[in-house]
Amino acid sequence: MPVITERFNISTRGFTDIIDITEKVKDAIKKHNPDNAQVMVYVPGSTASITTIEYEPGLLKDLPEAFERFAPRNKTYHHDETWQDGNGYAHVRASMVGNSQSFPVMQYELVLGTWQQIILIDFDNKSRTRCVYVQIIY
Ligand code: ZN
Repeated sequence: MPVITERFNISTRGFTDIIDITEKVKDAIKKHNPDNAQVMVYVPGSTASITTIEYEPGLLKDLPEAFERFAPRNKTYHHDETWQDGNGYAHVRASMVGNSQSFPVMQYELVLGTWQQIILIDFDNKSRTRCVYVQIIY
């Protein structure tokens, strides 16, 4: 069972920037073209997450609004008292969503719902360059 690791960089604007990375993940898989595989998509860092969504304009507003209710940006966080970096909200949101998701590949295709895309969310309070890892086991 070979394990192959691909990676790509994504520039973000921060502040709960939601970026569709589905095609980049598919490109990484296509380099190896496994018929059956498990694919893990991972972003290192404590203020960014990987999840899925139906990438359409309504949800691209609904999801940040839900994060704002859950962990508001303008609240004072203990983390900010420690580091004065003002991104306590970003750490809380990223921890709750998580850094990785796994997906099956069957018959050479990444298995996703018709309206399901893989997204990177950058919660940090500044623009960043994120490195996304795609690890393929087959
Ligand atoms: Zn911080």
